[in-house]
Amino acid sequence: MSGNKGAGKDVPEADQAGRPDWAPVDAGPQFAVRVVRGRATGSRGSSAPAVPRRSLTAAEYAQGVIGGNRTILARAITLVESNAERHRRLAREVLARVLPHTGGSVRIGLSGVPGAGKSSLIETLGNQLVTQGKRLAVLAVDPSSTITRGSILGDKTRMETLARNRACFIRPSPAGGNLGGVARKSRETILLCEAAGYDVIVVETVGVGQNEVTVRSMVDFFLLLLIAGGGDELQGIKKGVIEIADALVINKADGDNQARAAISRQEYAMALGYLSPITRGWQTRAHVCSARTGMGVAELWRMVQRFLEITRANGFFAERRQAQSVEWFHTLLDDSLRDLFRRDPVVAARLPDLERAVAQGAYLVPDAVDDLLRTFQPAPGRRS
Ligand code: GDP
Repeated sequence: MSGNKGAGKDVPEADQAGRPDWAPVDAGPQFAVRVVRGRATGSRGSSAPAVPRRSLTAAEYAQGVIGGNRTILARAITLVESNAERHRRLAREVLARVLPHTGGSVRIGLSGVPGAGKSSLIETLGNQLVTQGKRLAVLAVDPSSTITRGSILGDKTRMETLARNRACFIRPSPAGGNLGGVARKSRETILLCEAAGYDVIVVETVGVGQNEVTVRSMVDFFLLLLIAGGGDELQGIKKGVIEIADALVINKADGDNQARAAISRQEYAMALGYLSPITRGWQTRAHVCSARTGMGVAELWRMVQRFLEITRANGFFAERRQAQSVEWFHTLLDDSLRDLFRRDPVVAARLPDLERAVAQGAYLVPDAVDDLLRTFQPAPGRRS
């Protein structure tokens, strides 16, 4: 794609045509640009109150987000995505203010290889949900773009109809350089969207490597989207990913592909029989659908609703959210400690000598680590 491929280009290309709502505050790391051009402008329709481009206070951000102002929501997300220290402080204040209004959505993770039909499914399902009066937020997370610079996602127009619907809010997430960063920011973004009144939040990620685990740790229901292949598809997907899913959905069950999809579903259903479900009280399902014809999509949503009924009744829904908060706490703690350590001037000054020493075999690596840890003496009250 051409969007953010340019060397050293930190700001997505869409910015050149007019700064979109989600443009980064501080031109941070690479973005996973899955941008439907013009969708951000949908939030600036004539009915939207004018929002001054000046800096907003935490109270203004919070009020705007809680009031469902899409432009302010987009700016608040940009704020939480910023790595600048002053933005981080302000972002925390905003989050603290909106916190009482969070938690009310259904959080759904959606993963699958590029081309599986994720955006098509979101479009089809999303339109059904919007018709039922639901408000939907879609957060696209692509940590892989630090390597691929977003090329995996292509420069295609995605979720066109939804993107124009005011009951829907679509947002790419920054690659952030590491999964911890992505997780942190996506979690904060989820909270902002919830405070803005979105009932369903879909966190979409490309099925490569570790992404699914990160997304699993922030959603209630995790859906793995698959396509019927030539019989060996079970090998193409890491067993671990199937283990963390609440539903395996075989897409593109239409036309000539219908029979193959049905066979595939049976194979997956059989494979699931050997695995322990990730969610207490819920047997992971294998399901077929066609994002193109809509076949099986309403049933898919009924499955999600059934899942919610069961897990809310048996207490697992709340337990999982609590466990996710604790996990988030630990992730943030680890990130912050690492930042604090890496930014310490004494540590930074000592590091090259130790690197040389271990490279030359003059110093045992564990000794060098101990040495550096002893060097580290953060001043009281210093924060990353
Ligand atoms: P993503 O990369 O996972 O988001 O996949 P897309 O939604 O962009 O879909 C990839 C391609 O598969 C596109 O050409 C879609 O039109 C096509 N596609 C998606 N869903 C279906 C489906 O249910 N049936 C058929 N026949 N094609 C589909």
